[in-house]
Amino acid sequence: MREFKPDPVIHPHDEEFVPLEGQTLYVKKENAAQGKYLSTAIRDRMREDGKRFWAGDNISDYLADSDKEQLINEATAAFEQVLDTLLIDRENDPNSRGTARRLAKMYFTEIMEGRYEPAPDATAFPNDSDDRYEGMLVVRSELRSMCSHHHQPVSGVAYIGILAANKLIGLSKYTRIAQWCSRRGTLQEELCNDIAREIMKATGAEDVAVYIQAIHGCCENRGIMAHSSLTQTTVLKGAFQTDQSTKKEFFDNIKLQQEFAPR
Ligand SMILES: [Zn+2]
Repeated sequence: MREFKPDPVIHPHDEEFVPLEGQTLYVKKENAAQGKYLSTAIRDRMREDGKRFWAGDNISDYLADSDKEQLINEATAAFEQVLDTLLIDRENDPNSRGTARRLAKMYFTEIMEGRYEPAPDATAFPNDSDDRYEGMLVVRSELRSMCSHHHQPVSGVAYIGILAANKLIGLSKYTRIAQWCSRRGTLQEELCNDIAREIMKATGAEDVAVYIQAIHGCCENRGIMAHSSLTQTTVLKGAFQTDQSTKKEFFDNIKLQQEFAPR
């Protein structure tokens, strides 16, 4: 289990702050006295720090593992209200009994997990021997995400291209990083940028490309109801952007992969 790190900005021993009953979180005295919701207390702290907490942002520094259960309880109560307002009989309808909790849990531990969990551990190995790998690496990662606008599923694949730098990470780490970025409320354009940035961070490489092909539930199940619509986005960094042959090699690799295993 991850240990909770008190925020250095708000010093926990400061007189102003006290632990919230049964929680690891320190909140302002007046809030604790009011028995404020944990979610409200966390939001207050993020606002105070100027920390952005949009649907696609990771906020794992602001909550401990032990806080999750309480947040799920709070979200369950809120989803119960939503179901009541939708006039769904959650007491007698056997299929709707427990739905509020299922939704709350699903948000925290599945479809938005990438907001609440720290970055996957991607240990890097040096790539500095005499016969070091100098070529291009293209990894295909399956993606499951959801759009911030409608909370509808987004599913597809990301092709991550990289020119070997001084560090190498395990092949599965590319997909772990891509999935960590996508398990949030996202826009495909932003997701493409997020994956490129995190891969650059983990590998120290400057030459990185990300191409995503995905279908969006919000276009299939509602709105334009287009079942075969496909959205493609590309982010090119370093040589992938400046060197035409590198860019071509990347897209040729994607074509080969798609021939080998069409999605
Ligand atoms: Zn949408």
